[in-house]
Amino acid sequence: MPLGRALLDLVFAPICLGCDGPIAPGDAARLICRRCRARLPVPPAPLCARCGAPRLRTGRQERELSCRECEHWPPAVRAARSACLLLPPADRVVHQLKYRGWWALAQPMAERMAAVALPPDVVAEARVVVPVPTTAARRRERGYNQAELLARGYAKRTGRQLLRALERSTGASSQTSLQPAQRAANVSSAFRLAAGVERGLLAAHIILVDDVLTTGATAGECTRVLVAAGARAVSIVTFARAPTVREVPT
Ligand SMILES: [Zn+2]
Ligand SMILES: [Zn+2]
Repeated sequence: MPLGRALLDLVFAPICLGCDGPIAPGDAARLICRRCRARLPVPPAPLCARCGAPRLRTGRQERELSCRECEHWPPAVRAARSACLLLPPADRVVHQLKYRGWWALAQPMAERMAAVALPPDVVAEARVVVPVPTTAARRRERGYNQAELLARGYAKRTGRQLLRALERSTGASSQTSLQPAQRAANVSSAFRLAAGVERGLLAAHIILVDDVLTTGATAGECTRVLVAAGARAVSIVTFARAPTVREVPT
C-alpha cells in the first residue's frame, strides 16, 4: 500500500457498508470488509435447475425441471441465479446501493454476480444483458438505476453486450407515438420496449439483471415484453434472492 494511502487509512479508516466496522488496513476492498464478503450467504445447494431456489424443503427431486417457486413463471424463462440470499449482510449492501447513494457498490456486487455459475446452455447462448428499468422519476431522484449499474458491470465482466431494451412507464402512457413492434411488445402496463432495440433482441437469449429476485413477477413481466419483441429465451441474474419459508432450514 502506498504510504500516503496508509496514512489516510489511519486517520480516516474506511467503514464497511455491510457492518459499519472498520475495514482492515491492507484490505484492497474499500467498501465491503473481508468478513462481510465471506459472510454473504450463498444459496445452499442443491438448487432448482431452473430458478436456482435452494431445494432444502421443496421436496422435489433434482431431475425435475421446475419447483413450486418457478412452476408459474413464463415458459421463456430458462434459468435464474443469484449471488447470495437476501440475508445479513447482503440485505444491508442492497439497501446501501438502492437507497443510500452508494453507487460504487455496484462494482463488487457485479463481481460476485459474474462469478455465479450458469447452466452451460445459457453460457453458450446468452450474449446480451438487459437491466430491469426503473421509472424516470426514481432515476432522477437517485441519479442512477442500480439494476443498470449491476448490468453494466456484469456485462463487462462476462464479455457480453449491455442493451437497455426496456423502459418503465409511470402510468397510462399514450401508445400513439410508438412503432408497431413497440406496440406489440407493450403487453404490460409497467414495462415497455425502448426505441430501436428490436435487432438486438431478435432470436436472442437475454440475461435480465436486477438487484433482487423476489417472486419473479417483475422478471416475468419483463420477459413477456422481451419475448413479444422477438427474444427467444430469458435468464435472470440478480445479486440477491429473497429467502422464502421453504428455503429456511428448521
Ligand atoms: Zn463488514
Ligand atoms: Zn424452481
